[in-house]
Amino acid sequence: MRIVITGAAGFLGSHLCDHLLADGHEVIGMDNFITGSPDNIAHLAHNEKFSFYKRDVSNYIFVPGKVDAILHFASPASPNPQSKSGYFNLPIQTMKAGALGTHNCLGIARAHNAKFLLASTSEIYGDPEIHPQTEDYPGNVDPIGTRAVYDEAKRFAESLTMAYHRFHNVNTSIVRIFNTYGPRLDLEDGRALPNMIHQALLGQPLTVYGDGSQTRSFCYVDDLIDGIVKLLYSDEHFPVNIGNPNEMSILQFAEIINKVTGNTAGITYVDARSARDPQRRRPDITRAKSILNWEPKVSLEEGLRRSIPYFKQKLGIA
Ligand code: UDP
Repeated sequence: MRIVITGAAGFLGSHLCDHLLADGHEVIGMDNFITGSPDNIAHLAHNEKFSFYKRDVSNYIFVPGKVDAILHFASPASPNPQSKSGYFNLPIQTMKAGALGTHNCLGIARAHNAKFLLASTSEIYGDPEIHPQTEDYPGNVDPIGTRAVYDEAKRFAESLTMAYHRFHNVNTSIVRIFNTYGPRLDLEDGRALPNMIHQALLGQPLTVYGDGSQTRSFCYVDDLIDGIVKLLYSDEHFPVNIGNPNEMSILQFAEIINKVTGNTAGITYVDARSARDPQRRRPDITRAKSILNWEPKVSLEEGLRRSIPYFKQKLGIA
């Protein structure tokens, strides 16, 4: 296939490029580098099946030649207000990537009779009242809340995707991505894993926001990409959760990071991020298991061991 990936220089986008090229496809990457990094795709520069266009997909995009599939992964994604690349500091770009970017990508899919796959998010569930989250749970969100620019943009993107499927018969899929980590995650993006790995590798105490009782579950990037590619090759049109159901408190998570890195500086408690920080999050992956025959295989400790060399290299630690 000839496949377009937006957000190709991002954490997930770049891993998708690698995986789809390894599957024998031709890949056209697009990114405007507001949160992605050229470093993430530098190794593809001489791959003759890979081409790259610096583009803001919120504007009209033209792709010469045939297109068999388009995967829309362009968006800021970190909720950290301190992060320059987080969506708090890029609110309009985030809404445009989710709304206008999705519209442009769906337009390409329709014009080329191509498959469209939307990167959606567990954030569409907001601070969930049911646990674990199944795909039929409509969510607990606030259109003007602190996370709204991201979760409402992604909710709109899902609605638009289903409208193009139902009205224009475009072959669409929607993946709802839960917390994911691995090499190429931006150390500065402020999310729990890069923040804490960064602190641990520098021998500093890990910052736990609030009392650390809020829960998440963390999926290793190879598992996540495997699930997304299975969805791409499927005929499933309704949203599918992809993530790791191994739920833990953020405090437990911090303790595991200290253990795996051998950090003895402990933990410091700082103010909770906001009242809108989801208190519990865990994917119900029953649909992914039954429709895609997918489930994650890499444990958190193993995934951390695989990721740490990358973070050490970025920090210049031997
Ligand atoms: N968090 C933390 N310390 C940090 C960064 C994040 O305790 O240095 C907490 C944060 O408040 C949230 C959880 O870890 O409850 C996961 O945050 P992340 O930024 O990874 O993304 P989210 O899952 O909220 O989208």
